[in-house]
Amino acid sequence: LSTTRAEGGRPINIAVLGSTGSIGRQTIEVAEANPDKVRIVGISAHRNTELLEQQQARLRPKYAIATARLSEAIASDQLIELVTDGDIDLVVVATVGAAGLKPTLAALKATKRVALANKEALVMAGPLYQDAMAKDAALVPIDSEHSAVWQCLRGEDPGSVEKVVLTASGGAFRDLRIEDLDSVSPSQALHHPTWVMGPKITVDSATLMNKGLEILEATILFGLPLEKVGVIMHRESIVHSLVFLNDSSVKAQLGVPDMRLPIQLALSHPNRWPGEWPRLDLTEAHDLHFEPPNWDRYPCMGLAVEAGRQGGTYPAALCAADEVAVDAFLTGAIRFTDIHRVVGSALDFHLSADVSYESVLAADREARARSRKIVKELMS
Ligand code: NDP
Ligand code: MG
Repeated sequence: LSTTRAEGGRPINIAVLGSTGSIGRQTIEVAEANPDKVRIVGISAHRNTELLEQQQARLRPKYAIATARLSEAIASDQLIELVTDGDIDLVVVATVGAAGLKPTLAALKATKRVALANKEALVMAGPLYQDAMAKDAALVPIDSEHSAVWQCLRGEDPGSVEKVVLTASGGAFRDLRIEDLDSVSPSQALHHPTWVMGPKITVDSATLMNKGLEILEATILFGLPLEKVGVIMHRESIVHSLVFLNDSSVKAQLGVPDMRLPIQLALSHPNRWPGEWPRLDLTEAHDLHFEPPNWDRYPCMGLAVEAGRQGGTYPAALCAADEVAVDAFLTGAIRFTDIHRVVGSALDFHLSADVSYESVLAADREARARSRKIVKELMS
């Protein structure tokens, strides 16, 4: 991977896709704290034009794109123009769901460094990213667990890795009885115990679909088979993930939960910049708990792993179905426990194909349509 500061010591020029979201806003915060190192050249949002306009007035970027105002084709053209602009060195993909797929692949093709938060855009088309990475595309993770693994793998021979273990907080309903999950409300699901994040990932954390997606994300980013990626429940979100090596050494990365660290590291790599956020103080009383996950409690995590095992376009169908199901839950159309039913049925109906750009988009469309139908059936 190349160094971050562009030739001649000028700041890196970045684009932030999804600048109005949780990761996008924190990316801007990191950039504004490092004005000599980072310059924001482009921002994009979907619906939140008010915040986008405020960001535009403050940052004066060359591009500020609000995609919800545009037709899908024009929005996609504009985002591709932004990420492939000759001025841009690095693209932060902080959109949610399938929205990031096209611009991310376009950025990698144009040999831009990509700092990726939008895990769904990766998971739905893993082999396309692996092809790009085989051609030296620079793709770095923002997701905290993957940033932890990435930090632990530094300097290690990939052949020495026995397994990677991702930590999971358990989300909003970790202490609820399984029989009570049927009646939880969207506002309860949006209350994450350790992180403040956008709505989709917060619900995905409550179902542990998020951890399932992260297992697949790890296999793609680090070129690992599914058997080498495990999950452990860790309610404090202090240990961000672990790497087990073949001489019995275990490396972990720890820190107070704060996404500004992995965001900044994705920009500063291979260097580190000072960070003005809280430090972990282990002399304070810290109980760190670890326990194996209960897969029966979290059927979405199993569905994600199964989609990964089946391969082909199953992961794309999984992501599309989950987007529809989470949206339907948040608007009150279905129950929390229907989310896995929608995703499971969409996968049962899915006819998988070999992964290509076109087959992934077709799987996405088909699974969305199928999932909407299943939602309607559940409502009646
Ligand atoms: P948010 O919902 O807070 O933000 C999403 C951003 O994407 C917003 O800027 C939104 O624009 C934009 N957006 C939404 N829909 C579209 C669309 N159809 N086309 C283009 N842009 C769109 O999400 P988060 O920041 O929480 O998460 C972003 C990604 O990062 C997700 O994939 C998530 O899984 C991942 N992630 C997030 C973490 C976190 O701490 N938040 C941690 C690890 C990973 P607008 O606001 O204008 O609608
Ligand atoms: Mg994560």
